[in-house]
Amino acid sequence: MSGPITARTPVRFCDPLPRACDAVVIGGGVIGVFSALYMARAGLKVVLCEKGRIAGEQSSRNWGWIRQLGRDPAELPIMAQALDLWREVDAETGGRVGFRQTGVSYLASTAREMDRLRGWLSIGRDRGVDVRVLSPDQLDTMIQRAQGSRRHEWVGALHVANDARAEPWAAVPAVAALAHSAGVVIREDCAVRGLDIAGGALRGVLSEAGAVRAPHVVLAGGAWSSLLARRHGVVFAQLSVRSTVARTAPLPAFHDGAAADMDLAFRRRLDGGYTLALGEDNTHYIGRDSFRHLRPFLPVLRRTLRDTSLRPAAPAGFPDAWGTARRWALDAASPFERTRVLEPAPDRRAVARMRRLFAQRFGALGAPEIVDSWAGMIDTTPDVVPVVDRVAAVPGLVLASGMCGHGFGIGPGFGRIVADLVCRGATGHDITRFGLARFSDGSRLELGPSI
Ligand SMILES: Cc1cc2nc3c(=O)[nH]c(=O)nc-3n(C[C@H](O)[C@H](O)[C@H](O)COP(=O)(O)OP(=O)(O)OC[C@H]3O[C@@H](n4cnc5c(N)ncnc54)[C@H](O)[C@@H]3O)c2cc1C
Repeated sequence: MSGPITARTPVRFCDPLPRACDAVVIGGGVIGVFSALYMARAGLKVVLCEKGRIAGEQSSRNWGWIRQLGRDPAELPIMAQALDLWREVDAETGGRVGFRQTGVSYLASTAREMDRLRGWLSIGRDRGVDVRVLSPDQLDTMIQRAQGSRRHEWVGALHVANDARAEPWAAVPAVAALAHSAGVVIREDCAVRGLDIAGGALRGVLSEAGAVRAPHVVLAGGAWSSLLARRHGVVFAQLSVRSTVARTAPLPAFHDGAAADMDLAFRRRLDGGYTLALGEDNTHYIGRDSFRHLRPFLPVLRRTLRDTSLRPAAPAGFPDAWGTARRWALDAASPFERTRVLEPAPDRRAVARMRRLFAQRFGALGAPEIVDSWAGMIDTTPDVVPVVDRVAAVPGLVLASGMCGHGFGIGPGFGRIVADLVCRGATGHDITRFGLARFSDGSRLELGPSI
């Protein structure tokens, strides 16, 4: 596997569904897979239903950054644990995760940008993150210049040396295989059409392959979670943006970690190529949810509008496309079966710009050969912080979604929290920041950091 997982990727998991179990997980992305693994290890009988392919959506399409740098303070203790858990599963999978603690850096091109980055220093340091400011000389040593290139033009950087990288399209399926061997029943090509609720009580799920009874259900459906929740009267303010990524052919190793300035992000892969993306590259397709959730999203919209391009409609079959059904019978095909894998087309102009920006920064290497490009729909919440919480209106249901473009790195940490919520009730972390009610109970929204 040398690229993101698609609808053409062969099905790997096709277990028969039992009639009953202790917990059903909806969604086989990084959150669902780690939740299932840790629940199984805690002794629960777990079923994971994935409508398309394990990691077919965001979880194989991301940049592969595992970072503490720039996170919301409430996420930092969970992220610190996630680093340990990634290291652990990398060892357990014989290195298939590709976990390397090669550091993550945010690069500043102007003194003003550097000042903005410095704003995060105290957030990180107060919570034990070893975050440093790098000088231009230190940057020149860390990010090598190709022979004959001019000195880098960055004026400085914020750097966390023990942040990491991994190979998304290999990592999440490898963790799914671990979960499978821990006893999780995994079924791909199996959409959950809805929750099985009788007399107000959760009984399990109704999937296209039949009903599964369970006292606990974890909704980890990524960009689809709001659609499914709403079918049962649960409002989850979630919107998505498309973001494009490109993969270069192998290049001389000029930097071993992950780094980004305002315009270009790059991360070395195990195969010797680099994963490239633009610093700000968000396309939002307007749909009914854009209006429905406009009010809570206004503050973040103000912050990001300049960097977001708006389109009047999503392609057919997307979660918030104008034609997507909002109500459907639970014994007939649902919107989840119609789009097995959400595969937005990449923005070709964005890819061309990545090549140009790369050539500007690493002159002697020139414009790199791009061997593949793709896009993913990033699901976001109004304060750019995830929701990981019990759903008060449906006892037994846990929602873990809205990972806001940084759920890959923290995935094992939130997976552990979901398992603790289901199995023990207590999580060992303060998770009040991730509550679902904050978007509707009049709480003042605090936006997560924007560096
Ligand atoms: C371009 C891009 C770059 C990113 N870069 C990074 C990065 O460098 N570092 C980082 O930490 N994060 C990054 N992210 C974010 C990260 O990838 C996501 O936050 C994370 O993968 C979300 O995981 P998830 O399990 O919540 O959702 P997903 O990975 O989207 O998985 C949800 C799954 O649920 C399934 N599903 C939905 N509804 C149903 C249903 N009814 N029945 C059955 N299955 C269902 C879907 O098919 C899907 O496979 C990036 C994301 C993108 C798109």
